[in-house]
Amino acid sequence: MKHYYEMKQYRGRFMVLTTIFMVVLWSVSWYFCDFNMGKAWTVVFIATVFVLLVYNLVYQMLRGVYADVETISGWMLDVIDGKEKDTKEVYKQGVMGLLYTNYFKMVTALKESRQKEGREKEFLRDTISDISHQLKTPLASLKVFIDLLYEEKLKEESKRKEVLREAGKQLERMEWMVLAMLKLARIEAGSVRFERKWCEAEQILKTAIESVDYLYAKRKQKIVIHWPEGVEEKVCLNCDGEWLTEGLINLLKNASDYSGEDTIVSVKVEENNLFTRIYIKDEGVGIPEEALPHIFKRFYRVDNKINPGSVGIGLSLAKSIVEGMGGKLVVKSEVGKYTCFILTFMK
Ligand code: ADP
Repeated sequence: MKHYYEMKQYRGRFMVLTTIFMVVLWSVSWYFCDFNMGKAWTVVFIATVFVLLVYNLVYQMLRGVYADVETISGWMLDVIDGKEKDTKEVYKQGVMGLLYTNYFKMVTALKESRQKEGREKEFLRDTISDISHQLKTPLASLKVFIDLLYEEKLKEESKRKEVLREAGKQLERMEWMVLAMLKLARIEAGSVRFERKWCEAEQILKTAIESVDYLYAKRKQKIVIHWPEGVEEKVCLNCDGEWLTEGLINLLKNASDYSGEDTIVSVKVEENNLFTRIYIKDEGVGIPEEALPHIFKRFYRVDNKINPGSVGIGLSLAKSIVEGMGGKLVVKSEVGKYTCFILTFMK
């Protein structure tokens, strides 16, 4: 027991007060009992027995309280040192009960915050390793290209231009990859705040389509939009317009990348009292059934030859954006027939 100090103080003060009380009691009893010593001592004796009983009672109570405080303080030290054991919850009444309850609440909060910290560290480590891993290949290619040009190994002008064009492509890819990965990391780390407001779906789709227009024109592909029938008012979505545009660009770009020339990508907008939905359906290669559950995972790519430069970030970025705004993004596909991404925003 370490609470000697308090107990000693209690004992000391009790002794002083009791001695003063006894002297006064003896004097008063002696005076009121006609200066009869025997009677005065009897009164003092009875009072002493009573005082000793009170002393013992208070002593036991204090000892219990100090023992509890000491136990909790020991547990706190363990928590600070990170050695918290699985302490069984203690249920008591009164202030001590409150202290125990608050202690367990504090330990739970602390454990959660430590776990969160651990998860964040893990996430940061994974993100850094993903980025460095993904940058290795294009960086190595760029180094080879620079060596070729620097050592003047390529004699023909056309070969040199080809190498430069390829280097430009790698740089573009790296730029896109780094920006997309940083966006994804920011969203997943929760540092992006989506500013949700009512935005016109037409405006968002128009901006997204403008960004991929050049791809569709190059491949002679077309985007056809189907608006809900019989609805006079413009369809609005409660979302962050800029971020949603970013997500849609990724889906429209994929629809073009994985479809042949002269194909149509249909964008259908559906609205009812419960939700607003956007379907982006292409007539492309489709996604095999076994790949569908993994398609939104970071760096997941379907093994197809159409787009060997695929990194596997576009879809996870689109999903993080849509879900970050409270929406849902799912996919349906049939190999060789179509792929359809469905965005749902509840009202
Ligand atoms: P990236 O960032 O390289 O574009 P994504 O995350 O967008 O990669 O896509 C991951 C994989 O999903 C791609 O490698 C591709 O195989 C498949 N995929 C995505 N969209 C489609 C689509 N519309 N049709 C067929 N396959 C698709």
